[in-house]
Amino acid sequence: MIKIRNPPMPTMIPSRPPAILPGSTIGILGSGQLGRMLALAARSLGYRVHIFSPETGAPAASVADKDYVAAYHDLEAIRTFANAVDVVTFEFENVCSQATSTAAEHVPVRPSGGVLTLTQNRLREKTFLQNQGFPVTPFRAISSLEDLRKAAVDLGLPGVMKTADFGYDGKGQFKLSKEAELAPAWRSISEAPAIYERFVPFAKELSVVGARMVDGHFEAFPVFENTHARHILDISVAPAGIDPSVERDALNLAGKILDALDVVGVLTVEMFLTSDNQILINELAPRVHNSGHLTIDACVTSQFEQQIRAVCGLPLGSTTLLRPAAMSNLLGDLWDNGEPDWSAALEDPVVKLHLYGKREPRPGRKMGHLTATGSTSSEAVRRVIEARERLSGLATKNHG
Ligand code: AMP
Repeated sequence: MIKIRNPPMPTMIPSRPPAILPGSTIGILGSGQLGRMLALAARSLGYRVHIFSPETGAPAASVADKDYVAAYHDLEAIRTFANAVDVVTFEFENVCSQATSTAAEHVPVRPSGGVLTLTQNRLREKTFLQNQGFPVTPFRAISSLEDLRKAAVDLGLPGVMKTADFGYDGKGQFKLSKEAELAPAWRSISEAPAIYERFVPFAKELSVVGARMVDGHFEAFPVFENTHARHILDISVAPAGIDPSVERDALNLAGKILDALDVVGVLTVEMFLTSDNQILINELAPRVHNSGHLTIDACVTSQFEQQIRAVCGLPLGSTTLLRPAAMSNLLGDLWDNGEPDWSAALEDPVVKLHLYGKREPRPGRKMGHLTATGSTSSEAVRRVIEARERLSGLATKNHG
């Protein structure tokens, strides 16, 4: 007699959806410089790129295969856009949640609309991080002048009041040092929901750009050290001048945050480092980041290529930094006395120029960036600053 036995149960392997392969089409919400560099990375991997934003002639438009110009809340347009692509990602996080949920009815949206919604609002983001046990700057929710007064007593002055929605590059943000400043500041944000944070006399500002796959695999770039001018990022450098244990802690923290949010794609964690080496999370950006631009010229894989790999389910690339590098932003102010002297900046052969194709150089507008490499971080910073000074004729030749 033949005995039929049940076949052994197969071992469970975490499922990984099939990769979205080169030749497919990537949809990007947003069309600024991040979208432009993302599109360039996608194209060099052999993808087609469609972009969607309300702006015409934006930086990403000239490098995309197709440019949809419509409001983010135009859900019919979002549907048409989503139907023509294989995956949707974004370079701009202030896209309404209906847009991402509508797109998600047709194609994967990575990172998910849930991550986007959480990080769009400082109060939601900080509350989530705090509830998960991550170290954040002490804060209070503000919905009235009374709340603000109470928060200033609880957490002390100076402090920083920030609108809960739509804040970036210091917009909607006030440093408050005296009780008398509270009422005018509250009025100036039109009594919009806000948070009040203790002012952190940080030793350094750091950021970690991390990428996570559908199956949870995580890779981060080395920690970047950032300096700001007028609330806008000015210089980023890697390696950061921090203890190896701080570097490890910062990278671990970022990995845990991407896990907690179940991010598929790239997310950036902005941090403060206090003088006693404590890390406090300032803000999350669910995308590539200005501080990661130096990865284009100094890492095996750029942050832009990494986002494309992560959202398409291709293996992540090496994040190794090949040489110390520094990035300096080029703002519209550089055009005050006419076209900057590009040749002068490029006299130093380790300097690389990236311009975003923006026609109108307004003060404070990010028009491009420079990257310089060096044998040390401080040499890279010196060379990139000197190159920027040469743009407006402020410096003389001094390479090497
Ligand atoms: P944010 O828009 O939150 O990224 O803030 C922009 C910049 O303002 C940060 O990069 C810091 O330089 C500064 N800043 C924000 N919050 C604080 C704080 N609580 N304490 C000290 N500086 C802050």
